Amino acid sequence: LWQDCLSHLQDKVSTMDFSTWLRPLQAEITDDGLILYAPNRYVKKWVEDKYLPQIRETASFLSKNERFGVKIIDGIKPENKPQAKPQTSILNANKAAENKPFRSNLNPKHTFDNFVEGKSNQMARAVAQKVADNPGGPTSNPLYLYGGTGLGKTHLLHAIGNGIVALNPDAKVVYMHSERFVQDMVKALRNDNIENFKKFYRSLDALLIDDIQFFAGKEGSQEEFFHTFNALFESNHQIILTSDRYPKEIDKIEDRLKSRFGWGLSIAIEPPDLETRVAILMKKAEENSLALPEEVAFFIGQKLRTNVRELEGALNRVSAYANFTGKHITIDFVREALKDMLALQDKLVTIENIQKTVAEYYKIKVSDLKSKSRSRSVTRPRQLAMALAKELTNRSLPEIGKAFGDRDHTTVLHACRTIADLREKDNNIQEDFSNLIRTLSA
Ligand code: ADP
Ligand code: MG
Repeated sequence: LWQDCLSHLQDKVSTMDFSTWLRPLQAEITDDGLILYAPNRYVKKWVEDKYLPQIRETASFLSKNERFGVKIIDGIKPENKPQAKPQTSILNANKAAENKPFRSNLNPKHTFDNFVEGKSNQMARAVAQKVADNPGGPTSNPLYLYGGTGLGKTHLLHAIGNGIVALNPDAKVVYMHSERFVQDMVKALRNDNIENFKKFYRSLDALLIDDIQFFAGKEGSQEEFFHTFNALFESNHQIILTSDRYPKEIDKIEDRLKSRFGWGLSIAIEPPDLETRVAILMKKAEENSLALPEEVAFFIGQKLRTNVRELEGALNRVSAYANFTGKHITIDFVREALKDMLALQDKLVTIENIQKTVAEYYKIKVSDLKSKSRSRSVTRPRQLAMALAKELTNRSLPEIGKAFGDRDHTTVLHACRTIADLREKDNNIQEDFSNLIRTLSA
C-alpha cells in the first residue's frame, strides 16, 4: 500500500522534495492503519506539516477506507532496527545523527577550534566560518578553496561540515573526495542504481567535494556532477569545493563546469608564514601534551617552510623520539631527530637564487627580471626564471609573481606554459633550461 501511495505522491510533489522527505519514510501496516517511521524529528515535522493531509487522502483512496489512519513516528521501524550499529559512520558519535540513513564522512577531529589562523589562511577561514553559519547564502555558493598540498583545505572543509551539523543536527551534509565520487558513480552505473545515486546527491543540504582536480579527464563524472551541481545550486543548497588550483587553471575539465566553480567565492590558501608555522607547532604540541619549548618551535618553523602536513610529520617524529629516549626537547635534540628532513630542506632552491643564476646566465641584471621591460632579451629569461621557480621551489604562483616585480599569478602561469611549449619546439630553450636546472640543483 505504501509503495502505491508513494507512486501516487511522486507525481504530485517535486522530485527533490520527494526524495528528501517522502522516500526515507518506512511504513508499517497495523490494525490501526498506516504507521510511518521518519528517520529523524526534522523529517517527521516537515512531513506532518506539509504532506500528512495528502498522504491521508491518498491512503484512504487506495485502501478504499475513508477512515484509514495515518500516523508518523520519529524512529526506526522495529524489524529494520540494526542490532549493533557498525561503527563505520563517524557521525554515529553524534546523538542527533544516529538515525541518519547516510554517511556524512565528516571527520570530527577537523574543526574551526583547532585550525590555527594566520595571514595565509585568514580569509579562507573567515569565509568558511561564514558559510558554516549560513550555508546556501547567495554570495558564497559555491565556495571554492584552493591552494597547495598540506595547507589545510581538507581540514577547513570538514570544519565547515561539522559547523553546519553543529548548528543544525538534521542537516544532510556529505563530505566526499572527488575520486570517491567518481568510484561511487561508476558503481551505481554498473549496478543500475544511478537514479538513486542522483537523487541522493541532489537531496543534500550541503555537498563538500575535496580535490576536484581529480575530475580532470573523466567526462562522465563531470557530466553527472554538472547536473548535481545545478540541482543543488538552484535550490540554494551549499556546495563547497577544494582544489590545488584556481578554477580556470584546471586542465581537462569542461569549461561550463569551470565557469560554475567560479560563480560564488574562490579563495586561496597560501603557505603559512613563520609566525603561523610556530603557532601551529605550539598548538599541536599542546594538543599532544608535548613539552615543546618556544625556541625549538621557532627553529623547526624556520627550517620547514613548505606546508602544515610537513610540520605535523616533524612534530610526530620529535614526539616519538622524545618518548623513546626520555630526553628533553632541545634544538640539538631536534636537529638530530629531523636530520634527514632538514638536510633536504637546506638544498631547496630559493627564488632569489634562481633570479641571480638566470641573470648571470643571460648576462642581464636581476633588476631586469623584476622590471616592466618588454625587451626580448629580458622577457624570455624572465619567463624561464618564473618557470624554474615553479619547478624548483614550493612557492605558489602568486608568491612567484610577487617576487618578479609584483606580477599577477596568471602572468606566472602563462610563463610556465610558454616555456613548457618552447622546450618541446626549441632546442636552445630546452638546453638553457637543463643547464640552469643543473646549476641550481648542484
Ligand atoms: P590539504 O587538504 O590542503 O592538502 P590538510 O587539510 O589535509 O591539507 O592539512 C594537512 C594537515 O595539516 C592536517 O592534519 C591538518 O589538520 C593540518 N593543518 C593544516 N592547516 C592547519 C591549521 N591552520 N591549523 C591547524 N592544523 C592545520
Ligand atoms: Mg586535502
